[in-house]
Amino acid sequence: MNKRILLTVLCGLLPSLAFTQDIITVPNMTITQTALPLLNQGVELTKVGPGYYSFRHLGLRNIFIITDDGVIITDPISTETANLMRSVIRKLTTLPVKYVIYSHQHWDHVRGGKIFKEEGAQFISHQNCVAHFTDLPDPEIVMPDKTFSENLYVVNLGERSLKLQYLGRNHGNCLIIMTPDKTNIPFIVDLGTAGGMPLGYMSDYSLHNWIRSLKELESWDFQHYIGGHGIAVAPKIRLTERREYLEALMHETKKELDANTPIDNIPDIVAQNLQAKFQNLRGFNGLVRDNTRRVITYYSIGW
Ligand SMILES: [Zn+2]
Repeated sequence: MNKRILLTVLCGLLPSLAFTQDIITVPNMTITQTALPLLNQGVELTKVGPGYYSFRHLGLRNIFIITDDGVIITDPISTETANLMRSVIRKLTTLPVKYVIYSHQHWDHVRGGKIFKEEGAQFISHQNCVAHFTDLPDPEIVMPDKTFSENLYVVNLGERSLKLQYLGRNHGNCLIIMTPDKTNIPFIVDLGTAGGMPLGYMSDYSLHNWIRSLKELESWDFQHYIGGHGIAVAPKIRLTERREYLEALMHETKKELDANTPIDNIPDIVAQNLQAKFQNLRGFNGLVRDNTRRVITYYSIGW
């Protein structure tokens, strides 16, 4: 049993921030396919390590690190979320936010950083994100001041460091894994939301590269991770759960294509075949058929 003491600071209506301290046990789970609650209301702050916090507003989650010389934050998420996060950080430190790191290009994670730009923060992303931000600009997205193309880039501030790792194409083509020093709990956005399903059409996700990246992460030496949605700290086996779902989805879809099953019938057949193992994943019934249509496209036209 792997136990970790977490200080959970539940924030009620700001600025009347309510602090409650709970000791939470994170089980070293061996059984997956269990249902997890949909966390999409309110604000929640969880301390997961020295100076290392996970912040959730509504359905989205990010991390920040407080150092002796300022704060490193990650996805601002939205103007409203960024304002709430700024207020929470103010209650923990008077030091300014020095860096904002984007996890990837998707708008639901990277809008709203203006408040941090105004206090002088530098914005950093993988260089591949820039093409997305310029091709389809969004007025609420602050362009990165600095980009990197290496597979490993380290942000240093004060006595702390944050490791940024690029695994290649997977969920888009600029997603990075972030891990602060003094901890072994990486921030892994959207590659494996614990207990959830992929978005319906899995738009710009490269399916085989997604599985490759999940396998790579499974080989890394950590027990828990923080996702971009959902519970504060998830056991690593939830990444395996996502990989197994994707592999089964692709296998079952290909089987029907190879058997020349009429395209219109395939989503229902695949849903039926995956149901026994994966029906407890949040949103299974509403999403599995669109996931299947996406895989049909993958095998039909190579996209
Ligand atoms: Zn995304």
